[in-house]
Amino acid sequence: MLDRATPSVTKKLMKKYNLFPKKRLGQNFLLDRNVLIKIADSCGIASHEYVVEIGPGLGGLTQELSARSRGVLAIEIDTSLEPALMELASENNNVTFLFQDVLKVNIEAELRRAFKLEQMVPYQVCANIPYNITTPIIFQLLEECPNMQAATLLMQKEVGDRILAAPGNKEYGRLTLSTAYYADVKHIMNVSRNCFYPQPEVDSSVLRLIPNKIKRYPVKNEEIFRKLLLVAFQKRRKTILNITSGFFNISKEETRNILTEIGLKEELRPENLSIEDVIRLVNAFVQ
Ligand code: SAM
Repeated sequence: MLDRATPSVTKKLMKKYNLFPKKRLGQNFLLDRNVLIKIADSCGIASHEYVVEIGPGLGGLTQELSARSRGVLAIEIDTSLEPALMELASENNNVTFLFQDVLKVNIEAELRRAFKLEQMVPYQVCANIPYNITTPIIFQLLEECPNMQAATLLMQKEVGDRILAAPGNKEYGRLTLSTAYYADVKHIMNVSRNCFYPQPEVDSSVLRLIPNKIKRYPVKNEEIFRKLLLVAFQKRRKTILNITSGFFNISKEETRNILTEIGLKEELRPENLSIEDVIRLVNAFVQ
């Protein structure tokens, strides 16, 4: 089988199908087989498991996922890649491609349809995700994919650093807290920009997100939790007294009392709060 993650095969495929890398779609192809093997190995995919890949590109990672799993559903927005990917599908009969914008599809419904599953089964996501829509993809996976067992994602290092940031750090924010609420996060590896064609301006990292199905500390209202994070980190220099009093539309006096009751100092700023603090805060203000 052709190794699609080499410069020569990539060039050959691009020439054959008159393709060129599209920057607006974040097309930076990972051309290092050892890195692809490490990423796929880190998923620990069982042979009976299905995998969803987002943005297969020319199929370098798809080849690794296909070799390890029961089936791969690969969702790609760029229809010009279809002939090159169909060639791969003809060599790997457990791979199905869906040419759509991943942000507009119901991933679990498509997985069921692709493999004619009578009921939903646990599955993993593994992908080198496009730079321009990294955050929306992460939110989609964490909030809309209840049966997903884990997502192993290659992303720009700066986004990975934001997810892994500690309180008080300038990278610490909405993405850190939302991810921490929905999942346990593990750093797998960093990947140099030199491994990609075309070479991006930044390095990347691979993170594995494992959704925590049973939350240790659930929030009473997830919608309010999400909205509060959005508002709080738009005003990160404001104190939590001002943010919560404005957000919940209650007097400073009453807000102060509630914050004291739950042991949070009113002059703290959102970046000082741990995920447990935010949950405590939401639950104290929501009936
Ligand atoms: N998996 C390949 C690799 O590792 O070499 C390509 C990864 S490349 C960083 C990102 C891929 O995502 C591209 O193939 C791009 O066309 C695709 N893509 C971009 N936006 C997308 C979207 N909204 N839905 C699905 N795929 C998308």
